[in-house]
Amino acid sequence: MKQAISRPLSNQSNFRDNKNGSVNHQVSRRQFIGTSMATGVAMGGMSLTGCTSLPTHQENPNIVIVGAGVAGLAIANRLSRQLPNAKLTILDSRETHYYQPGYTLLASGVWKNADKVIDSNAKLLPTGINWIKENAQEFLPDSNQLTTDNGKTIGYDYLVIATGLRLGFDTIEGLDIADLGSEGIGSVYPSPEIALKTWQQMDMFRQTGGRAIMTLAHTDMKCAGAPLKMTFMLHDRLVQAGTRQDSDIQFFSPHNTVFSVPVVNENVLSHWASYNPPIGVNFEQRLTAIDKSSKTAYFTDGAGNQNAQDYDFIHIVPPMFAVDSVLNSPLANAQGWLDVDKYSLQHKRYSNIFGVGDINGTPKGKTAATVKLSAPLVVNNLIDVIQGRSPSLQFDGYTSCPLLIKEGQAMLVEFDYEDNLTPSVPFIDPLQESYFAWFLEEMMLKPAYMAVAKGRV
Ligand SMILES: Cc1cc2nc3c(=O)[nH]c(=O)nc-3n(C[C@H](O)[C@H](O)[C@H](O)COP(=O)(O)OP(=O)(O)OC[C@H]3O[C@@H](n4cnc5c(N)ncnc54)[C@H](O)[C@@H]3O)c2cc1C
Repeated sequence: MKQAISRPLSNQSNFRDNKNGSVNHQVSRRQFIGTSMATGVAMGGMSLTGCTSLPTHQENPNIVIVGAGVAGLAIANRLSRQLPNAKLTILDSRETHYYQPGYTLLASGVWKNADKVIDSNAKLLPTGINWIKENAQEFLPDSNQLTTDNGKTIGYDYLVIATGLRLGFDTIEGLDIADLGSEGIGSVYPSPEIALKTWQQMDMFRQTGGRAIMTLAHTDMKCAGAPLKMTFMLHDRLVQAGTRQDSDIQFFSPHNTVFSVPVVNENVLSHWASYNPPIGVNFEQRLTAIDKSSKTAYFTDGAGNQNAQDYDFIHIVPPMFAVDSVLNSPLANAQGWLDVDKYSLQHKRYSNIFGVGDINGTPKGKTAATVKLSAPLVVNNLIDVIQGRSPSLQFDGYTSCPLLIKEGQAMLVEFDYEDNLTPSVPFIDPLQESYFAWFLEEMMLKPAYMAVAKGRV
């Protein structure tokens, strides 16, 4: 995650007023003292068409947050401090909080205990917030309302959507989620329990070696580096067990790359090509079906041709989709994600709605690192709207991915919407593995993540 950089206000030149490009001292001073998040840049004039009329309750705005993952929590904690007079409500039926970045460490045998990634939302929510332990079912943005899965109708003045995304294991023919973590099938994505079982499968596989198939989703993904981390760590675990020479690792990508940032893609591919034996890479191959009984995975290429691949171990990365309540709502873009402006993170048609986290239909940034920098910006822009202004800050798409290369070595890759590398630790080369980057991932990321959830960084 990007390090916090405390700067005097006069140096915060990247938070600018959106009308004349001058620094908006009033907003910066009020909202950003102590946050040290410098991510916005000058913003051109924005106008919305077809949005609902803005509510008039500016003194005590009624703000509803949907989803209490790291994104929803960060918004709730910040709003409770920055708008003490607001009426805050959060919806989420889930009481457990999961530190998902830790799943990679569980699934690769670094962490042995699932407790390290489990927490409670009750501990992380601000006092005074109204927590409705139900999920949003239907969004009715034309009437500033939503319904819950228990049939309640809830009205709001302003809405922040932070529902995360849905893992689409059900779209892979022949695969049942109950299969994950057994019979040589693993996935780092769904839960701490399955991450631990994935490690059990990998551990069994490395005793003898064999043929491993590693996959990637064809959709937008959260932490697109996680499938690469699993591939690097599988290679390393086989080397450690002395069975790498008896093993064939094949990576299947539905694209013609394994990572969207070209310079990182090339770096990863050259690592894999340098191994003995190399990790094989198969492009434009999408996992569409699996036959567990014969241990066969079926891939489909761009022309619709299917091919069968035997495996002893397979790591499955499911396609990922917007949650149904957003996907089936007037708030969705053509792909089903929340249709926000990628700079202001305000909804493109409903100016009293903002999005944060994995649900956003932005070109990049389904990571907790993105939440770290975008949550304070969303709070700032929401307050602008509540106070009758246009959103004044603009997000640059910052995201980050500590790529585990082998036990004790990682690369800290950080980049923005334009694929620019944006390293935040001056002495770390983002394309060079180091123990320091590993240390950040293993020891520093969780405290940083918790500080984000509490709205403290
Ligand atoms: C294996 C793995 C490794 C990762 N590694 C990293 C990493 O190294 N670095 C990094 O920065 N990020 C990483 N991430 C990504 C990071 O965890 C996510 O980007 C982050 O958790 C997104 O936060 P969120 O709040 O948007 O979604 P979530 O944390 O998924 O939370 C969404 C919340 O919304 C709730 N919800 C869903 N639907 C509804 C509804 N209809 N109504 C009400 N509530 C609803 C859910 O119950 C949930 O509590 C990783 C993720 C995974 C899975």
